Amino acid sequence: MKPVGKGKVFLIGAGPGDPELLTLKAAKAIAQCDVLLVDDLVNAAVLQHARADARIIAVGKRGGCKSTPQQFIERMMLRFARAGAVVGRLKGGDPFVFGRGGEEMLTLRDAGIDLAIIPGITAGCAVPAALQIPVTHRDFSRGVTFITGHSKNETPLNYAALAASETTLVIYMGVANLALIAAGLMAAGMRAAMPTCIIQNGTRPDQRHLVSTLGRIVADTAAANIGSPAIVVIGEVVTLANIASLPLTEFAEFSDQAAA
Ligand code: SAH
Repeated sequence: MKPVGKGKVFLIGAGPGDPELLTLKAAKAIAQCDVLLVDDLVNAAVLQHARADARIIAVGKRGGCKSTPQQFIERMMLRFARAGAVVGRLKGGDPFVFGRGGEEMLTLRDAGIDLAIIPGITAGCAVPAALQIPVTHRDFSRGVTFITGHSKNETPLNYAALAASETTLVIYMGVANLALIAAGLMAAGMRAAMPTCIIQNGTRPDQRHLVSTLGRIVADTAAANIGSPAIVVIGEVVTLANIASLPLTEFAEFSDQAAA
């Protein structure tokens, strides 16, 4: 790596998984980078746009897994940029939707590093869309609410507000707390029959999903052995899901993989 000139960081959204769901701007930025710091939800296939001499560093940060601490990633970004490198920070989906892109932007801004944000297609829209679920179809919903099921803040979600919102609820990082969230919404008045689906590895060849109800989603998810990374969609729009249109990976095959 022989960086020439002033360093710069691109915070790049790599999309939800399908490598073709990458923007042209992202592909062009990736091609300029000397160094790429890659999150583990990013499909490695997007690296086909990288220069042959680019240095590629995996910096996974999945909850509960072995991960590179956030501070370490930020220090690495600063070090490379200060050394004059063009750095690409590749994040799954959109860099500003639950990806700590905001924190990284502020760190770079405070350090006076030149930066650019390249938006990406967030999983919360693209993954339901892969099941033909239009999250804001106006016959069914007044909007969409993106929620994290795994908050830094320990106070519970405002279930009453969510249940009353008449919006489709799209939950990121919701698998671990799904029982809590479903119970909270039902206690706040959302009906147990509310259509609900969970989609794991959406837009990838190993996508798995099931359509259920709020009252049954926890048991059905456990029975199907569906896990993270998954998006949970709660709302009437789920009735539009076209499940038959998509291949399903065999459960048994998936369980073998999970056990390995
Ligand atoms: N910045 C990302 C979200 C990062 S948080 C975005 O905009 O999409 C990580 C969470 O996103 C995962 O735990 C999961 O809930 C969701 N997610 C990301 N990619 C996904 C995929 N292909 N299928 C299902 N869920 C996904």
